[in-house]
Amino acid sequence: MKLISANWKMNLTPSQTKEYLQKFLPLIYGLEGREVLICPPFPSLCVASEMLKDSSIKLGAQNCHHDKKGAYTGEVSLDMLKELGISYVIVGHSERRWIFGESDEFVNKKITACLKASVRPILCVGERLEEREAGLTFKVVETQIRLALSGLEEFTDSLDIAYEPVWAIGTGNPATPEDAQVVHAYIKDLLCHINPKHGGKTRVLYGGSVNPRNSGDYMRMKDVDGLLVGGASLEPESFAQIIKSF
Ligand code: PEP
Repeated sequence: MKLISANWKMNLTPSQTKEYLQKFLPLIYGLEGREVLICPPFPSLCVASEMLKDSSIKLGAQNCHHDKKGAYTGEVSLDMLKELGISYVIVGHSERRWIFGESDEFVNKKITACLKASVRPILCVGERLEEREAGLTFKVVETQIRLALSGLEEFTDSLDIAYEPVWAIGTGNPATPEDAQVVHAYIKDLLCHINPKHGGKTRVLYGGSVNPRNSGDYMRMKDVDGLLVGGASLEPESFAQIIKSF
């Protein structure tokens, strides 16, 4: 099933989350044939969990720590998140990689922990502008995927991958659907090499300046299995339009 996910980043307080979901739920009521995921910031997970408990909308976190507990000031474990009903975690988002210095090794540990905890990771990969201009897009994406999945090759069917070119995130300058398709096809081919048995089962989402006007164009591409939406998911009407655009 196609997956349409919202990454709210550091936006929407618990009371704003309540207001958002009160508007959003009726907008997509009864809609079938797609999986919808919302990833609020940590403090808003509790209220979202309560409000989504009778709906088919999934709840995800934007990050996690790989250890079960311990002296990690400011971090959050998967056990804590699971108690709030989360079933997905975004791992390796470019903002975590480039603002908070998250390494490929750390990303690998988080994916390992998610799989052990039966939480589905969404692994984010994507090249920066200078890498794209140097013709390194495939190499960068392949390296990120191989390192993130090192030792986990047989589990590619238990995760999703989001292709998010860094230059397209939050810039209003998205990759064209055709360009995204080429990278998605490359990623799927790579996954079939990494895991010949199940490689074809990983969903590959596109993320980067998706909005209600362009979302349908991505979803028409053969290898686009869903979307990861940042800015345009912050308004219930706009996110609902994206969900309904295919
Ligand atoms: C994101 O943060 O994952 C993202 C795709 O952001 P935006 O849609 O705002 O570009």
